[in-house]
Amino acid sequence: MAQESQHRQPGSAPAPTLGFATRAVHAGEEADLREGATGDVVAAIHLATTYARKEVALPGRYEYVRSQNPTREALEVKLAALENARYGLAFSSGLAAETTLLLATLKAGDHIVAFDDLYGGTKRLFEQVFVSFGVEVSYVDATGALPVERALRPSTKMVWVESPTNPLLKLSDIRAIAQVTRRNGLILVVDNTFLSPYFQKPLDLGADVVVHSVTKYIGGHSDVLGGALLVNSEQHYEKLQYLQNSAGAVLSPFDSYLTLRGLKTLALRMERHQQNALAIAHFLEKHPKVSRVLYPGLESHPQHELAKAQASGFGGVLSFDLKGTVPDAENFLERLQVFTLAESLGGVESLIELPSQMTHASLEKAAREKIGITDTLIRLSAGIEDAADLVADLEQALA
Ligand SMILES: *Cc1c(COP(=O)(O)O)cnc(C)c1O
Repeated sequence: MAQESQHRQPGSAPAPTLGFATRAVHAGEEADLREGATGDVVAAIHLATTYARKEVALPGRYEYVRSQNPTREALEVKLAALENARYGLAFSSGLAAETTLLLATLKAGDHIVAFDDLYGGTKRLFEQVFVSFGVEVSYVDATGALPVERALRPSTKMVWVESPTNPLLKLSDIRAIAQVTRRNGLILVVDNTFLSPYFQKPLDLGADVVVHSVTKYIGGHSDVLGGALLVNSEQHYEKLQYLQNSAGAVLSPFDSYLTLRGLKTLALRMERHQQNALAIAHFLEKHPKVSRVLYPGLESHPQHELAKAQASGFGGVLSFDLKGTVPDAENFLERLQVFTLAESLGGVESLIELPSQMTHASLEKAAREKIGITDTLIRLSAGIEDAADLVADLEQALA
């Protein structure tokens, strides 16, 4: 296996014949047992920024760190193996991955149809940055395919969705939308950050590109900023690889190593995140001070059936409406002992936040409420602590 991996194209994954947890541990870092090799059982951190060659006209496999790095390549192989993708590319943040994708695929005059409930940073990238390069974006309710199809223009090149969305946990019907994008020759991008490849594999559902903020579940320990793109088309891969090097927003060797390390426990962590989220959702659903709980794993979620049809789990993020006012919500959040009051999600520690005052504070109140983000909507990311401690903490703070 070691020899084979040496000759594989950078970032390309072996066929997914082994189970997910096995691939999470082994893919991309098979021990090198050739004569003279160390046989390390984990990928080494290669810090060199440049690589020596014997002859002027004869570069080795590696030339310069931005272009190629063995630690980053090990991660790219592992990520591709986990998303059932042929190719993976790692970047210095989720937004760097998104920027590289847009630079590689769009030109002035091109149009994107995007889910109206997108991650705020992605919306800002579209509206404040790519608008200056002549890229146009229409936002639609992309829970189903019809609004997406209606918004298509002759200049449309790309459809961009997230499922589930943040913080409203709406789902996008990826299979149905993929039929529309296939029929019209468009690129379907799915941001898979919230479920991770453990629960959802958008390329298998017909998507062309998967985007990840590695910063969340993939890294998993709230200590790495990173991003990734996963594709099956060789043509897409070559363009993306060219821009990865030309624009230069690559993941560092050390962060690549931390991400490789985090990924080994992704299967275990996602199971526990989900167990804890379900326990919390059931507790909150019965609490008299809570008016609504949004979690795809609850039968009360309007798209619970779609969740079961396109993913193998529901993830670890949920939102709920607290009865009362902003000060009541602030008071509740500040009384929590086990939950940490912070933005972000996907780490081993449980995090909680108030979107109207924190992650989504830049939206006008009317615009926020129009899409369902009330003043007292609370989003939480269930960590991997004991469920009983998390529920007890919420209970005492609600009392
Ligand atoms: C955090 C996040 C991003 C952006 O990723 P960064 O790593 O912070 O740049 C994109 N999409 C989703 C869904 C996210 O949660």
